[in-house]
Amino acid sequence: MLPELDFAYDEPDVGYKKVRLHFNENLFLTDDYYRALASSLEPWELRYYTDPNNKRLASAIESHHGLPQGTVVITAGADEGLRTAMLLAAHMGRGLAIVEPTYGMARVAARQVGIRPVVSTYREDLSLDVEEVARMGVGAIYVCSPNNPTAHVVKEVEELAARFNGVVILDAAYAEFAGYWRPRLYEYGNVVEVRTFSKAWGLAGLRVGYVVANRRVADVLRALSLPHPISAYSAKAVEKALEVGRPYVERSIEELGEVREWVLSQLKVNGYHGPTNFVTLRVDDAEAVAAELDKMGYVVRALGGKPLCPSCIRFTLAPRPVMEGFLKALRAAL
Ligand code: PMP
Repeated sequence: MLPELDFAYDEPDVGYKKVRLHFNENLFLTDDYYRALASSLEPWELRYYTDPNNKRLASAIESHHGLPQGTVVITAGADEGLRTAMLLAAHMGRGLAIVEPTYGMARVAARQVGIRPVVSTYREDLSLDVEEVARMGVGAIYVCSPNNPTAHVVKEVEELAARFNGVVILDAAYAEFAGYWRPRLYEYGNVVEVRTFSKAWGLAGLRVGYVVANRRVADVLRALSLPHPISAYSAKAVEKALEVGRPYVERSIEELGEVREWVLSQLKVNGYHGPTNFVTLRVDDAEAVAAELDKMGYVVRALGGKPLCPSCIRFTLAPRPVMEGFLKALRAAL
């Protein structure tokens, strides 16, 4: 059995359990799913390197989605996928734009590879000004859809891919929650779609992600990657997840949807929600609200200083009994 609160963790410095609602892990997958993935790694396999670029797993993902051979590049989580895509942008040398507010690691990854990104901003209605972006003259653009933290699906991605003269780095970490299982935009040739097993697939601890691009771009991304990006354990577990896990994941997404509806019916949301496993609220003082919640045993993400999100808290949706306790605490903290 998993511990009863499988989304709680020990905070060593504090000494009591907290419910972690700050990393957008899938908290709806149950014991039987994780049991089904129990590693079938033979002990002797630990001696050897995995196959170069984890090609076997890449092929399994290509088959799972019906993608052409050679279009998937395995990475250590979406974070490494992002950084590899940014490395490509750095090699192109024409700069990078990030559409804010969005995932903070995009900016970090850009900095890590020596790019100082320029910023574009979603409009108040969360639409993207494709004209403006196309005029910016940069060689690459980072867009996240569904976006973290606004949870909206970026409707203009295809238009952007068609009109932007550069590489579109599409962070689709939450795509499955929105019903986008199969990466499709790689067909544009200038889109690098970043995916992960950390979110809907509930396997954040394995650190497995992948990027999908057309064959030519994928070859370049592979050349920019580490030769053995993930462990033999991780590769085996993900192969198993592809074989048997999808019905579990689909069921968890359905259940998540029901809980999201319920939470939204209980909360007057001044903020953002969409087809994702998190909700973002605009609050007066995000740090103070997060600190109050923390005292009550709930860890949420405080976000501040971003366009459209000057002071927000973002929390991961969890099964209803957890949300009942959390909403009580939230009302007390607001
Ligand atoms: N992209 C986005 C938008 C995310 O929210 C996250 C997780 N916080 C990631 C990428 C990184 O995911 P991974 O665990 O696959 O590195």
